[in-house]
Amino acid sequence: ASLFSAIEMAPRDPILGVTEAYNADKNPAKTNLGVGVYYDDNGKVPLLECVKKAEAELIAKLAPRTYLPIDGLATYDRAVQELVFGAGSAVVTEKRAITVQAVGGTGALKLGADFLKHFSAAGTEVWISDPSWENHRALFEMAGFKVNAYPYYDAATRGVNFAGMLDALKTMKSGSVVLLHACCHNPTGADLTDDQWTQVIEVVTSRSLVPFLDMAYQGFGDGIEEDGQVVRRFAEAGGPLFVSNSFSKSFSLYGERVGALSIAAASAEEAARVLSQLKRVVRTNYSNPPIHGGQVVATALASPELRKLWEDELAEMRVRIREMRQLLVAKLKEKAPAHDFDFVIKQRGMFSYSGLTKAQVDRLRNEFSIYAVDTGRICVAALNSKNIDVVVDAIAKVL
Ligand code: PMP
Repeated sequence: ASLFSAIEMAPRDPILGVTEAYNADKNPAKTNLGVGVYYDDNGKVPLLECVKKAEAELIAKLAPRTYLPIDGLATYDRAVQELVFGAGSAVVTEKRAITVQAVGGTGALKLGADFLKHFSAAGTEVWISDPSWENHRALFEMAGFKVNAYPYYDAATRGVNFAGMLDALKTMKSGSVVLLHACCHNPTGADLTDDQWTQVIEVVTSRSLVPFLDMAYQGFGDGIEEDGQVVRRFAEAGGPLFVSNSFSKSFSLYGERVGALSIAAASAEEAARVLSQLKRVVRTNYSNPPIHGGQVVATALASPELRKLWEDELAEMRVRIREMRQLLVAKLKEKAPAHDFDFVIKQRGMFSYSGLTKAQVDRLRNEFSIYAVDTGRICVAALNSKNIDVVVDAIAKVL
């Protein structure tokens, strides 16, 4: 037998599978709500003006492509840190935070996972929400962790099972890593309230759990500052803190792979030691990050004009998604008055756990060429003024 002869086929990625099926569908009226990407009202992935202008500046300079430092572009890391923790925050001004450019949000999570595997006590377990972004579990398992899930989504209330979540936090072993979505929970769209976060922070801190905040959608919930509040509150609570963030969505730079891992430590001296070890994780994985995407984001964030443009363009995306939520609910009220979809308006970010069952999702696909994830997750950012009526009519028929 050869090395490969006993290797089994890996399971298909459930989300990418939806897009494959969509691509193969010959119906010209087909609609893909299974994606995790923001589309504009014309159904296109936008190229932001702030990105175009930043790229024009970079092209005018035509700089040679040297290696970046192991931890990435310094101006990028600094800008990310201020965006994530707040420019005047104590962790930043006291130099207790470190930030390392990463290959997207996924790369940031993987750096954090590898670092934690190396430096946390043997047997440390990771907890993710039930459900969570489908890659969280696999990523931490591949890094060598046992991964558990804490209760999160409550199908009955279409909200968060907060009592269940809090109970689970209270039973985790001290030192356990808890992965939390800082805003715009993927896949459910259900976020905690400020008061619920207060309670979570209290339990996490008092029980010495290690919070790992994943923030892939900063600016898609209530605003850039508003969405960053949870990170800031955790940072103020003290204790070690991991934050992965991504610009894939907020800069519409998916393929450039721009993200970062930030860690808050107890002192500048501790942070320096953490950074030195984190750089070894980078060095032994891919040596140093790619240059282009980081430069684009750093250029846009450093220029007051481009930064304002970015904030406006991000606000436009956020507002459009909100409008689609409202339109979806209003139109469903008309076409399916017996069903209550008001929860869709309360959800945050690009996604909605629509409450559609697998059987209903199957019918949408087979009878109407409308593609959603089996769990009923739809991407609200894939709805637009042209496809919404088709989608609403079809949903009303399968309910
Ligand atoms: N975390 C969550 C919750 C996500 O939804 C995603 C991707 N959509 C990521 C991390 C990964 O981001 P990236 O595409 O930048 O790797």
